[in-house]
Formats: sequence, structure tokens, C-alpha cells
Amino acid sequence: MTDIIHTPVLEKEVLNYLDPKPNENFIDCTVGEGGHSVSILEKSGPNGMLLGIDLDSRQVENSRNRLSDFKERVILQNDSYVNMKDIVVRENFKPVNGILIDLGYSSWQIEQSKRGFSFSRDELLDMRYDMQNTLTAEKIVNEYPENELQRILRDYGEEKFFRQIASRIVNERQKKRIESTKHLIEVIRMGLPPKFRKGRINFATKTFQALRIEVNGELDNLKKALPKAIDILAPGGRLAVISFHSLEDRIVKNFLKDKEKENLIKISTKKPIIASSKEVFNNPRSRSAKLRSAIKI
Ligand code: SAH
Repeated sequence: MTDIIHTPVLEKEVLNYLDPKPNENFIDCTVGEGGHSVSILEKSGPNGMLLGIDLDSRQVENSRNRLSDFKERVILQNDSYVNMKDIVVRENFKPVNGILIDLGYSSWQIEQSKRGFSFSRDELLDMRYDMQNTLTAEKIVNEYPENELQRILRDYGEEKFFRQIASRIVNERQKKRIESTKHLIEVIRMGLPPKFRKGRINFATKTFQALRIEVNGELDNLKKALPKAIDILAPGGRLAVISFHSLEDRIVKNFLKDKEKENLIKISTKKPIIASSKEVFNNPRSRSAKLRSAIKI
């Protein structure tokens, strides 16, 4: 069982847009610790089904515990949401009345997985959601050519000091392999001009984000998954996507606009929904969250 319970982000807002009604079926593409799923299942009783997917087998176990009260109303799959269409066909899961994608990582992964997601802990550089994945953050940092490191830091971290940091990494790894978060943070610090080593947001945030996206192929997964979600939704079905940085949000926004032009969906959120100041105060993870939603025509 998890010690740290992940607080679902924008929970009320998600329910408002997914709008679960009795006996409707939902897919939680990133079931995580089951936070959103609990509230969906409470609204979709007595017989609505929930298909929960997570790439991280430990999260599937965490959600299994959290959702045990709902018994046979829950189907859990340790897989990527990229494969949602295959899973739905295999499980004969229909009609699909709503789909939630809550991107990124969860509190358990940051605080307890010991996979080096957090720069406030000294852990091995791993950052995988899927422990079968052969690519780790350690491998990227120590083996990618300098220009590839630059590309990741620039494109996935939007880190303006991408050249300086990549060059420091390459320099350092010739002396000693960079295996821990603490070591990497020291290297990043040395790559930055002194006045950028402090600040409200930790100076390592962007590099860590970039590595996580590359390890898990996060942006590619999102691009591949969105069309599948629209495809498998029943007419009138709702899609809700929560993103946590501008790269993700841009993909979601552009995709929804295109599909609305094609008359496949109707966007329900003119502007992205963001967390109230009260929620941000209680749950800092919600600070950068943006919810967009649409209804399948
Ligand atoms: N909504 C959840 C928290 C989700 S955190 C809750 O309230 O508890 C995001 C989750 O997405 C993590 O558990 C992560 O392992 C999972 N994830 C990331 N990429 C994924 C992918 N491609 N397919 C399935 N799950 C993924």
C-alpha cells in the first residue's frame, strides 16, 4: 500500500467535464494511484465500468489497492495508453463514454519510487515509468552525444543554457560517470551563470523535465494517443486531458483545434482550466496544471 496518497489535480473540474453518469464507462489512461478513478467510479455506479491503464506496474498495484472497494467494476492494465485502442478491443470495453489523460508523474513516483525523479533526493538517475524500458536517465546523461543532449535540453526542457549544461555534462563524464541526482545537480549548477543558480524554481527543473520526457517518450506518446482517444469514444463521449507544461499543452491545444475543424469534436474549454489559488496552496503539483476537454460528435 502507498504511504503517500497522491492528491488528484483539478478533481472537481475533471468531474465537471467528464460528467460521469450512472452506468457509463470510463478509461483512466494514467490511473496512477487511482485518485481520479475513485471519484469517477463514485459517480458512475452502480454498474459503470472503469478501465485503468498505467505504464508503471507498481502504480497498477497502488491503484488496485485504492480501487478494491469497486470490485468487478474495475479493469486494470499495465500498459501504455498509446495502446488504448487494442486494449479496448481485447477487453470488449464499450461504449466508451469518457477518457481521462492526466499526464506526467505522481506523488508516489516522486517521493517513494527511488527512481531519481526528484532533485531534492539523492537517488540513482533512472526516471523510468516502465521498468522494462532499457533507456534510463543515467544512460542518456553518460552516453548521448553532446548535440543530442543539447537537443533534449532545448526542446524538452526549454532550457536556455542548454549548450553550457550539455558541455559541462560531457566534460564531467569523461572524469567520472554521472550516476546520481546529486552529482547531476552539481554539474548543472556549474554549467549555469552564478545568478541563475538560485531562484524560486530550482535551477535543475528544466534539465530534469527534459530527461524524463526523453526517457519515457512522453511527447510522442501523447501525440500518438490523442487520435486513438477520439477514435474509440462513443458519440457524446468526453475527453479530458491535464497537462503540466507548455510543450504538452501545445500538443493538446493544436490537436483539439484540428479535430474541431474536421467536425469530429466540440471543444468544451475555450481556455484551459487552471487550479484555484486554494488548490495550488494545498497541492503545489497543481500549479502548472491545465485541463482541456472536448466532446465527440
Ligand atoms: N490521476 C492519477 C495520477 C496520475 S500521475 C491519480 O489521481 O492518482 C500520471 C501517471 O501516468 C503515472 O502513474 C505514470 O506512471 C503514468 N504514465 C505515464 N506515461 C504513461 C503511458 N504512456 N501510459 C500509461 N501510463 C503512463
